[in-house]
Amino acid sequence: MSNEGKVALVTGGARGIGAAIAAKLAALGHPVVVADVLEEREATAEAIRAAGGKARAIALDVADDAAVAALPAALGDWWGQLGVLVNNAGISPKGPDGRRRPIREMPAEEWRRVLAVNLTGAFLVSQACIPPLRARGWGRIIMLTSQAARAKSQIAGAHYTAAKSGLMGFARSLATELGPDGITVNSIAPGRIDTPMARGAAAGANDAFAANIPLGRLGTPGDVAEVAAFLASEAAGYLTGATIDVGGGSYMP
Ligand code: NAD
Repeated sequence: MSNEGKVALVTGGARGIGAAIAAKLAALGHPVVVADVLEEREATAEAIRAAGGKARAIALDVADDAAVAALPAALGDWWGQLGVLVNNAGISPKGPDGRRRPIREMPAEEWRRVLAVNLTGAFLVSQACIPPLRARGWGRIIMLTSQAARAKSQIAGAHYTAAKSGLMGFARSLATELGPDGITVNSIAPGRIDTPMARGAAAGANDAFAANIPLGRLGTPGDVAEVAAFLASEAAGYLTGATIDVGGGSYMP
C-alpha cells in the first residue's frame, strides 16, 4: 500500500513541529490534513501544495467535543482513507516573565485548559479516528509528549508536565487496545526544539538548556519530523507503545 492511500491528520499542524511533520509526510506521499485553531493552517497547507504535496487545512480545536465529532464531515472523502494520526497540538502557558508559574500561583482555569488540550484533546481525536483505522486494519498514531514527562523540567509548568505524563500513559493503553487491529501507537518526547512555543520561554532559558545538550544545539522541527516519518512508515510496523527521545541527548534514562 503506497502512502498516497494513507491520509495523515496532524493536529496543531499550522506551525512549529506539527507543520514540519505535515510537510515531511506530504513529501513522502501522504495526503495531509493540517488541523489547527490558527488561521496560519491555510498558508501551511498551501506551502505543502506548492511543493507538490496534497494538503487540506481544517479549523479544529482538539479540546472541543463538537468540533472533534465533526471530523468525519470535515475530512469528507478523505475520512475513509485515514491512516496516520499525529496528536501534536499542545500549549505551554507561562507566567508574564516567560517562566513557569509556581503551582501555588497557578489559576485552576489554566490547569484545566492545559489538561483539556494536551491530554483530553489527544483522547478525543484518537477516539474519533479509531473507526476508520480499524476498518482498514492498519494505522499509525503518534503522540507528541515531552522530555517534561520523562524527567524534571525547570521550564514547563506543572500542568504541562502532568498532561504530558498522562499522555504517555494514554498512549500505552491505546497501544495495548489497538494492537490487535494492526494499529501502532508510539510517542515522541522532544527535548528543546526551536519553535514559537520554545521561543516564548524566558530570556536565556533556551541557551542555558542548550549548554547541557550533548549534541550542542536546540533541535529543529525537522529533527522531530524525521522520527515521526519513521514511526508512520511500514518499517516501524513492529514498534508500538514506545517512546523515542528526540533531544540531542539532553535526557538519557
Ligand atoms: P507551537 O506552539 O509552535 O505549535 C503548536 C501548534 O498547536 C500551534 O499551531 C497551535 O495553534 C496548535 N494548537 C494549540 N492548541 C490547539 C488546539 N486546542 N487545537 C488545535 N491546535 C492547537 O509548539 P511546538 O513547539 O511546535 O509543539 C508541538 C508539540 O510538541 C506540542 O504538543 C508540544 O507540547 C510538544 N513539544 C514541544 C517542545 C519544544 O521544545 N518545542 C518540546 C517538547 C514537546
